[in-house]
Amino acid sequence: MAYTISSDCIACGTCEAQCPVSAISTGQPYKISGDACIECGACESQCPVSAISKK
Ligand code: SF4
Ligand code: SF4
Repeated sequence: MAYTISSDCIACGTCEAQCPVSAISTGQPYKISGDACIECGACESQCPVSAISKK
């Protein structure tokens, strides 16, 4: 399963900039495309509010 972003997201944009495959789109909250995500984990470790988790 891909990584997902919870409603705790504060839309800081950090994860989007980190994603190597541009799987993250802007919004409130930001959203990860399950089809595009390669589960590298880069976004999860960078989120300041720990809103990203692997489901
Ligand atoms: S890094 Fe976290 S708080 Fe920032 S946009 Fe991504 S999910 Fe939201
Ligand atoms: S786990 Fe990696 S590929 Fe998936 S959304 Fe996060 S940064 Fe992008």
